[in-house]
Amino acid sequence: MSTERIYLDWNATAKLLPEARATLLEGLDLAGNPSSVHREGRAARAAIEKARRQVAELVGADAAHVVFTSGATEAANSVLTPDFRMGRSPVRLGGLYVSAIEHPAVHEGGRFPADMRTEIPVSADGVVRLDALEDLLRKHDADAGLPMVAIMLANSETGILQPVADAAKIVHAHGGLLVVDAVQAVGRIPVSLEALEADFLIISAHKIGGPKGAGALVSRGETLMPAPLIRGGGHEKGHRSGTENIPGIAGFGAAARFAANGLSERNARIAALRDRLEAGMRAAAPDVIIHGESGDRVPNTTAFTLPGLKAETGQIAFDLEGIALSAGSACSSGKVGESHVLKAMGRDPRLGALRISLGWDTSDDDIDRAIAAFAKIAGRRKQTGAAA
Ligand code: PLP
Repeated sequence: MSTERIYLDWNATAKLLPEARATLLEGLDLAGNPSSVHREGRAARAAIEKARRQVAELVGADAAHVVFTSGATEAANSVLTPDFRMGRSPVRLGGLYVSAIEHPAVHEGGRFPADMRTEIPVSADGVVRLDALEDLLRKHDADAGLPMVAIMLANSETGILQPVADAAKIVHAHGGLLVVDAVQAVGRIPVSLEALEADFLIISAHKIGGPKGAGALVSRGETLMPAPLIRGGGHEKGHRSGTENIPGIAGFGAAARFAANGLSERNARIAALRDRLEAGMRAAAPDVIIHGESGDRVPNTTAFTLPGLKAETGQIAFDLEGIALSAGSACSSGKVGESHVLKAMGRDPRLGALRISLGWDTSDDDIDRAIAAFAKIAGRRKQTGAAA
């Protein structure tokens, strides 16, 4: 067995794809400003428009409806606002309904003040409760303005898929807008804005093998758009000002192209590896709790709790074994807090969960080593009766 480090934290960020790296480097050498009309400017513009088509294709959208941002967090803050526009006329939304398991980028509610935000509960299986959504929207005060609903497509901690297409029907029946954070779903399952009938989609380059610092807000139309978060020179058709991040956007496009091609073969292989990993973990420690095991999940993610092992202790133990994984609720500081996702599922949030997430270069050998490390850490837990 190899002693090389094993990267199993692809949901935190994916490895940069060689083709995204090459395209990014080409973008660095484009001298022009995409807003300039000279040849250099036009070459830079062409790189951005190519990426726009590639990103649109990945999510079944119209390229004209892709607004590039600095990442998913910015895309979320752009769209989650009560201040919308229909053409030049302002439109005020009446409230935000956000699922309890959203990533903080969405869960924080963007520019909606706290008194305009309501949480949608999830079931014990980690799935957004559509009955509760229906109930909330029925009680929504339509005079205050139309409601906005935010539900992610795949949960970042557990990988559990959410019934977004069904939610869209409910939201639209109540005249609302649906925002879908598809950050952890794109490149893992087929995603189509049209099929989902979502009004807005949020995606991020670095989760699919593109560079960090690029993302997009994709809309189904242009009739109703959020008042821009970043104002200035009117770039991105006035939706996001600032000279475009050409290398980042070009690299994003290359990653989107990779993600869209050969998805089903790649994911069948990854799903088989994940299933083998879970079977190996179960054999080594029958008391392991695999979150969302029986439901629909993205194929690359497994979130588990080993009773008696604290998440942060487990994370360090795996790191010492040469394996990078994450404690599901690690926040930006790297400190592990209580998981709001487990809490929303009615589990003891102090238990914490470890998350293993796989990517396109995860090998059989990586899984063998992960199972061996898991068995060692789980065994040590038994001997000491506590965390390793
Ligand atoms: N949404 C989800 C589900 C995520 O997993 C992440 C990143 O962890 C984000 C949003 C934020 O993405 P970005 O790093 O591009 O701001």
